[in-house]
Amino acid sequence: MIESVEVIGCGGAFDTEMTNSSFLINTSDESILFDCGYNVFTKLKELEKDRPNIIKNISYIIISHLDDDHVGSLKSFLYYRYFIYGLTTTVIGQEKALKFLDGINKKMESFKFVGANIYKANIIYNELFFNINKLDNISFKSISGIHHIETSGILIRDSEKIILISGDTKSTCNFSNTIEEVSKIMKVPFGSNTLIFHDYSPWNAPSRNVHATDNCMRSEYPEWFRNKMIKYHFSTCNIEGNIYKFNSKEKKWYLENT
Ligand SMILES: [Zn+2]
Repeated sequence: MIESVEVIGCGGAFDTEMTNSSFLINTSDESILFDCGYNVFTKLKELEKDRPNIIKNISYIIISHLDDDHVGSLKSFLYYRYFIYGLTTTVIGQEKALKFLDGINKKMESFKFVGANIYKANIIYNELFFNINKLDNISFKSISGIHHIETSGILIRDSEKIILISGDTKSTCNFSNTIEEVSKIMKVPFGSNTLIFHDYSPWNAPSRNVHATDNCMRSEYPEWFRNKMIKYHFSTCNIEGNIYKFNSKEKKWYLENT
């Protein structure tokens, strides 16, 4: 079961004083990291000082797209888990995103390169619900976004709750429609059981901005979706460190650190 969502960072590509946008989804078993930008590994190493298992537990990484603020420290992270802890990480993403890792599954022994299981690839581009081996109660669905390069967000659900993280994207009703469809499948109405993190840019120039702006949000999304979303990926965004937990009795998400 999904237990919590932790905001590792919420900055955009130019917000070098902030941690890159990244989320940690903790389950009762292992953790899933969404995006691993150029300073995310540094941040996780910092957190590891007080939480020695945090990196060991991240067995899965979802990659939205190939910009540095989303994959800049991915390889370092994968090498660290493998060479320091002997652990293989499953990387989930579009085919192109996974091409970025081609050729890294090797190590040196007796001056020769031999194969090594640094990462395992899992392609999600087909947008069907899929499961990943050990996390059998949790389903994933990638959702195409609109950006200057191929990008996708993710919907993650278990039997009672939904999490949607948009990745970098302009507004596209793909996201709100998917939640509505999924709620029907789950036979639970979307509401307090649904947590939405959406890309946002305060530069309200929809025709030139590759991120979501106020104007395009209004034209693309129903009101319930706009009211529910937690905006991220901009300089004044202050959700870094927030931990969202789920109260199973009341079936609702709440912010732990308030
Ligand atoms: Zn970005």
